[in-house]
Amino acid sequence: MNIAILGLGLMGRAIAQRIAGFGLTVRGYNRSPITDGPVGVVVSHTLDEAVAPAHIIWVMLADFAACEAVLLAEENQPLWRNRLVINGATISPDQSRTLAHAIHTLGGRYLEAPVLGSTPQAETGTLQILLGGDAADIKRAESILQALGTPTHFGEVGQGAAVKLAMNQLIGSLTAAFSMSVGLVQREGVDITQFMETLRASALYAPTFDKKLQKMLDRDFASANFPLKHLLKDLQLFTTAAESRQINTQMVHSLTDILTHATTTGASDADYSALFAEIVPPQ
Ligand code: NAP
Repeated sequence: MNIAILGLGLMGRAIAQRIAGFGLTVRGYNRSPITDGPVGVVVSHTLDEAVAPAHIIWVMLADFAACEAVLLAEENQPLWRNRLVINGATISPDQSRTLAHAIHTLGGRYLEAPVLGSTPQAETGTLQILLGGDAADIKRAESILQALGTPTHFGEVGQGAAVKLAMNQLIGSLTAAFSMSVGLVQREGVDITQFMETLRASALYAPTFDKKLQKMLDRDFASANFPLKHLLKDLQLFTTAAESRQINTQMVHSLTDILTHATTTGASDADYSALFAEIVPPQ
């Protein structure tokens, strides 16, 4: 089977390399030229070159604007006919439905497949893949999905995207809540080890706390797998989607204000746990 991966950013590279490791023929395309492509992946210089031999296209672009720019540009529209486009980007349910409609109109198939997990999970094939679309298309993509992790079919296009935003809202809210608590105990001179032991033994513990604790204690937010700018994008998508369903998102608005401020101080590409530095500024 021939696969094209569109977008060789942090996640696209890892996904391309993982799929190629499973013996599938993978071509990658990136808007900005790439010199050091992922292992086992042929990097094409043009979109047409990457897509022409492919049966399935995996899209791993930054956001809806990027998906629109690549998928819906007039000169690219004939490319999707008779091809299955699987969109792994995190976009909103409405945005995903818009793309699905457009691809179907152009004679192609569209499957929504946002993923839970980051580059380490992509590299080891342990992503959770949140599917929205037709069962027949999922069957067609079975070998790719199995290479990448555990797929769950939630229902129609839009429903996988909704689950992804629901999960990423938790990433932001849990990280912010944990940051405030760590900040208080630190500044009251409480032993952080004792605090964590108490937290771990309680019903309030989430494993993500331990994953991010050391970065917060060291105030070292480099080497991002999931950059802060993408968390901000996802929380903005969450508020729009949730408000359209009459859900009070006041709390997430505060969080997006904090994240927006972080982007003005150079933290856009930092790990999203840099949220801690905004909530507990250095003294
Ligand atoms: P990234 O490293 O920022 O890569 C973004 C990709 O999108 C790059 O290939 C970039 O190309 C391309 N792009 C951006 N704007 C474009 C445009 N207008 N036209 C064409 N290409 C464009 O992002 P990532 O971390 O791989 O994330 C990709 C998607 O997966 C996002 O939706 C993100 O929310 C989601 N996601 C990320 C993670 C994670 O841990 N990183 C986890 C789950 C889901 P250039 O190189 O030319 O800029």
